Amino acid sequence: MKFELLKGDITTLEVDIIVNAANSSLLGGGGVDGAIHRAGGPSILKECKEIVDEQGNCPTGEAVMTNAGNLKALKVIHTVGPVWKGGQFKEAQALANCYYNSLKLAEIAEVSSIAFPNISTGVYGYPKQQAAEVAVKTVYGFVFNHVKKVVFVCYDDQNYNIYSSLLFQ
Ligand code: ADP
Repeated sequence: MKFELLKGDITTLEVDIIVNAANSSLLGGGGVDGAIHRAGGPSILKECKEIVDEQGNCPTGEAVMTNAGNLKALKVIHTVGPVWKGGQFKEAQALANCYYNSLKLAEIAEVSSIAFPNISTGVYGYPKQQAAEVAVKTVYGFVFNHVKKVVFVCYDDQNYNIYSSLLFQ
C-alpha cells in the first residue's frame, strides 16, 4: 500500500476514484463538491439525481458511486460527511464511516487508486486536526485487496501541515 499526500485541486488528479464531500441531497454545493461538478460536467449530477430518485437522500456517513464525466478519474464516490456539532453527536463515527464506505465501494469496483479530500473540514466545520486523525486512522486500518494507492488531497495549508505531521512523523 502506498499513501500519498498532495496539496491542490482534487479535480485535476489522474486516479481511478475521486471522492467528493457531498451533501445528502447529492445536488452539488460549494467547496470541493462545486469544483467536482464544475470540472466533471453535467453527467455526474444527472446520475446523482437518478440515485436520489431511486434511493432518497444519501445519509451521513454513506457513499454512492457515479460516473466521473470529464474528469480524468474513472468514477466519483460521493460521501456525506457529518456537520460538526461539538463532537457529542457521533461525528467521529460518521466521518470514519465516510472513509470506510468509500474504500469499500472502491474495493467492490476493483480499482487501484483513490483520492480523498479533507471531508467535513470546510463548511461542515469539523476541526481539522481531529478530522485528519479520523481519516488517517480509518484508512490505515482498512484491509485492502485491490486498492494500491490512497491519496490525501489537502486544499489549504493548515490541513496540509496537519497531514504532513500525521503521515510522516
Ligand atoms: P464539507 O461540507 O464536507 O466541509 P467543503 O467542500 O466545504 O466540504 O470542504 C471540504 C474540504 O475540501 C475543505 O478542507 C476544503 O478546503 C477542501 N476543498 C475545497 N475545494 C477543493 C478542491 N478543489 N480540491 C480539494 N479539496 C478542496
